[in-house]
Amino acid sequence: MDNPENQQINIYDLTHAELTTLIEAWGFERYRTDQIWRWLYQHKVDDYGKIGNLPADLIKRLDSETRLGVLEIIDTIHSTDGETKKFALRLPDGQIVEAVLMRYEGVRRTACISTQAGCAIGCVFCATGQMGFARHLSPGEIVEQVLIIARMLEDQGERLSNIVLMGMGEPFHNYDNTMAAIHRFIDPDGLNIGQRHITVSTVGLVPGIRRFADEDLQVRLAISLHAASDEERSALIPVNRRYPLDDLLGAVRDYIEQTGRRVTFEWTLIAHQNDTPEQAHKLGRLLHDLMCHVNVIPLNPTDSYDGNPSDNNRVAAFTGIVDSYGIPVTVRVRRGIDVSAGCGQLKAAIIKTSEG
Ligand code: SAH
Ligand code: SF4
Repeated sequence: MDNPENQQINIYDLTHAELTTLIEAWGFERYRTDQIWRWLYQHKVDDYGKIGNLPADLIKRLDSETRLGVLEIIDTIHSTDGETKKFALRLPDGQIVEAVLMRYEGVRRTACISTQAGCAIGCVFCATGQMGFARHLSPGEIVEQVLIIARMLEDQGERLSNIVLMGMGEPFHNYDNTMAAIHRFIDPDGLNIGQRHITVSTVGLVPGIRRFADEDLQVRLAISLHAASDEERSALIPVNRRYPLDDLLGAVRDYIEQTGRRVTFEWTLIAHQNDTPEQAHKLGRLLHDLMCHVNVIPLNPTDSYDGNPSDNNRVAAFTGIVDSYGIPVTVRVRRGIDVSAGCGQLKAAIIKTSEG
């Protein structure tokens, strides 16, 4: 008997072992899992009907008891330069999340994906924070965003090379599902994305950073810092009151020691707020002995926050000071601003596009 749709399993939620258990329970041999897995993650089929070498009764069973993904693309917006594409994706319960494809020169093709619908952290300058928290995404809902983008690229003869977990949500607030998705990304028998080509960005949830240090992974870690004193940071990022700078940097220090890996600190530059020479010196003193890199990004506009991006002169002055402490510092290229797909702009624009 067919399952009603809402009881069907999202096949992307299953690990290889779970899929094996399922198909063995249906009476098929376990080697069939490897075949299905290849169709799902190497061929990236979007329809069970496209699967070639499986028994018809297995395909029928898959079709009736599982869903080949749950995300519905409700909108695709291209930036005017054509290098950024934003996908608005509807979840089965009606929530909307976004995923963004960024094309860079050469072969770098990066998917920026969401881990939650909304976000509970409430950073004042972030559109996702401004909308509040709806729910965590399941592993399959995170993985499918990557599949949608990878499929689209492959149709054009290109390949997805990088993944950044910097879309909507705080990855370490949804730790287990995020890690399950990462394991799917790096699986050599599946999507096979290089671990060093994946970056997880956290607002600084200390227990998450400590857990992440214990994972046996080469995946990169980025920490959203934005201020170098507790008073200033708490005004931008409320969760700083729970995990103040001392605790945060203690955890980052331990992470670097334990893993031997360099971390990235992200700093959204807001004119005359956190882009002053004084702030730059504070940052330099705070980080000068850490194996790290600072990535600054001028604020992207959002509706509910009236701060302004730093202009080029202020950006140059700020980065010059940080650099004088021997800390490598780069300015992130602002991408997709005209489609509101820049950092921290996700969601606000979607409400507009789907309503209007
Ligand atoms: N929750 C995670 C990951 C998603 S946000 C985090 O906060 O790190 C990804 C990055 O975009 C973070 O560094 C965040 O601080 C930054 N960001 C948020 N809103 C922004 C805005 N309006 N302009 C520029 N960067 C923004
Ligand atoms: Fe959440 Fe990150 Fe936005 Fe802060 S910046 S509200 S943690 S998504």
